[in-house]
Amino acid sequence: MRFLGTSAGEGIPTPFCECDICRNAREKGGPEKRLRSSFRLSERTAIDLGADFVAAAANLGESLFPLEHVLFTHTHEDHFNYHMIWTRFVARRKLDCPLNIYFTDQAYSVLEKFFLTSPTTAGREQYTKPQDVLFHRLEFLREHRIDDLTVVPLRGNHSTNIEPNSANYLFRLADGRTLYYGLDTGYYLEETFEYLKNVKLDLLVSECTMPMEGKDRAGQHMNLTTCVAVLDRLLDQGTISPETEIYLTHIAPVGATHAQLCAYLEKLDRPYRITAAFDGLTLAGG
Ligand SMILES: [Zn+2]
Ligand SMILES: [Zn+2]
Ligand SMILES: [Zn+2]
Repeated sequence: MRFLGTSAGEGIPTPFCECDICRNAREKGGPEKRLRSSFRLSERTAIDLGADFVAAAANLGESLFPLEHVLFTHTHEDHFNYHMIWTRFVARRKLDCPLNIYFTDQAYSVLEKFFLTSPTTAGREQYTKPQDVLFHRLEFLREHRIDDLTVVPLRGNHSTNIEPNSANYLFRLADGRTLYYGLDTGYYLEETFEYLKNVKLDLLVSECTMPMEGKDRAGQHMNLTTCVAVLDRLLDQGTISPETEIYLTHIAPVGATHAQLCAYLEKLDRPYRITAAFDGLTLAGG
């Protein structure tokens, strides 16, 4: 498993920005530099191929050749880039099976509302034939089997013009471990806390879009205060424990550099341990 990108919508450095965080990222590079969020769950499965997937794969020496399944959390462009379908179509040597693409609930309507029927889509029928790509619709709160995983989409507190709720994904991995992929999401919805009451997580990947303390703004991205409040509640209800591996991703160029965020998390007085993810961070298994 690997983080292919860990930034929020802007990217770090943000090309038009000269703030201290962006300048620091240009100078230091390494984990200070972030491309838009994407996660490789296994050789065959990934979550979100967004605006930066070509650059991310090239920078990390990552081949998407074996990829068969891509789940999308929502249709914001930093997470969903239709161009990947064309990019795969034109590959001279690609896997001899279609790419399976999954949207949850109303996000699926992006196919009719924008992707397949808009006046600017002439020619897309060429590269969206069933031998090249298959589109699937997942339902919230239902268990689905994808390859050697099971997944239950839960509603995120985050919307677009297409869908009122992003999809956060609860996985049971092939090795039996559980992973919750929570981005984008604000402070979790009550129904999501409720569902997670019956789950013990081995891994939790969470957005922390604003790596700074602050008030919770309803339905907005999480900052460090919101993030810790969610984790405290998940700890209280037994969903996470000191053994759960927790990773923060989807990070905007505000509040703290990567080094400052790591220092903050190191000092945090909680029974659980949080790691700030960075592009290329590889996790065991998957
Ligand atoms: Zn996002
Ligand atoms: Zn900046
Ligand atoms: Zn979003």
